[in-house]
Amino acid sequence: MSSLAPGRPCPICRKPAAEPHRPFCSQRCKDVDLHRWLSGVYAVPAVEAEEDELGLAEPEDAPPLGRRSPADGT
Ligand SMILES: [Zn+2]
Repeated sequence: MSSLAPGRPCPICRKPAAEPHRPFCSQRCKDVDLHRWLSGVYAVPAVEAEEDELGLAEPEDAPPLGRRSPADGT
């Protein structure tokens, strides 16, 4: 079974890992793993959040409450 793959197989595609990309077999699998990791950590729908913020930031129905107090900036 393990005659051509001395090291661990690529965790992404299970192919034998290649030296420069270990423990992955290629740069592509490296990226795939990175993306998986990132999406796992930052599991936030950025688009939805942005739309929500825009809706809250610019209430077209409600007029500005005149919060131009100088204390706000300082
Ligand atoms: Zn791979």
